[in-house]
Amino acid sequence: MGLDLHADPIALTAALVDIPSESRHEQRIADEIEAALRAQAPWFEVIRNGDAVLARTHLGRPSRVMLAGHIDTVPAADNLPSHIANGELWGCGTSDMKSGDAVFLHLAATIAEPSHDLTLVMYDCEEIESSANGLGRIERELPDWLQADVAILGEPSGGFIEAGCQGTIRVVVGATGTRAHSARSWLGDNAIHKLGAVLDRLTAYEPRSVDIDGCVYREGLSAVRIDGGIAGNVIPDAAAVTVNFRFAPDRSVEQAVAHVHEVFDGLDVTIDLTDAAAGALPGLAKPAAAALVAAAGGQVRAKYGWTDVSRFAALGIPAVNYGPGDPNLAHKVDERVEIAQINAVTDMLRHYLT
Ligand SMILES: [Zn+2]
Repeated sequence: MGLDLHADPIALTAALVDIPSESRHEQRIADEIEAALRAQAPWFEVIRNGDAVLARTHLGRPSRVMLAGHIDTVPAADNLPSHIANGELWGCGTSDMKSGDAVFLHLAATIAEPSHDLTLVMYDCEEIESSANGLGRIERELPDWLQADVAILGEPSGGFIEAGCQGTIRVVVGATGTRAHSARSWLGDNAIHKLGAVLDRLTAYEPRSVDIDGCVYREGLSAVRIDGGIAGNVIPDAAAVTVNFRFAPDRSVEQAVAHVHEVFDGLDVTIDLTDAAAGALPGLAKPAAAALVAAAGGQVRAKYGWTDVSRFAALGIPAVNYGPGDPNLAHKVDERVEIAQINAVTDMLRHYLT
């Protein structure tokens, strides 16, 4: 007996969780999802790309909504098969994110006349290095499948709509000096001491909070590492502090870098960029996204970490995270999801899609 997409989404979540699907081992779960969609939702065009399953309707609706979820999990931690206790479903992948997948699959099979055309993307390899990410492969090989007016990723978000995400850069702020014996320190020039001014600027820094489309992003500029020193009797000639800037998506990477240069302006230091990822604007003012926010009763908050939402933002598609489960429980031995939250997300999305 394969997956029953008409079963309630809790039973369907349990069935998905009980098919182990650690990253790079998604073939069986993809086979089962593909077979179930072909048999139980025949109004979808269904294709397979590696171990991703894609399905879409062609109903001629004025807008298209994408429902996307990864079908892989982190390695199980002796927490399979699933079980129900205290109103929660327990097991690897319950919250991240097979409950979200189950809601999407259930809705796809039970809404024959949606008010938007639907695209379903169930993809592989989200939990490992981003070069393996199934969504990235689909973007390269099947870009027309990612066209939509709004994309909903079913990652655990505690039942809130989480929109956009912050950007991040890392810079190494370096100081140089002159080496000398510490017994004759006046002959040297201490590079570590020069970092004092850098740390003072960081301590005094007042980060912005920025409201974009009703989501408040809180920036942060933080020292995350410090390097320096040669020996217990040597004035050091080099020292560096690594600074991480998490910035609201109204700044580009270039603007964020320029801002960090401003913060350290006038100091005798070098600034080298070592890592950068752009943020994503929430894009909630666009009509298809605004309707989703309205359906959720305005329960919207900013997403702080980098997620696959950013891939859609780069394509110009408003994208949100919205799924059952507490994101803080993802990847934990005691991973679980509240059954009531699975039902609430199903009801909200059914309302939005019909
Ligand atoms: Zn996830």
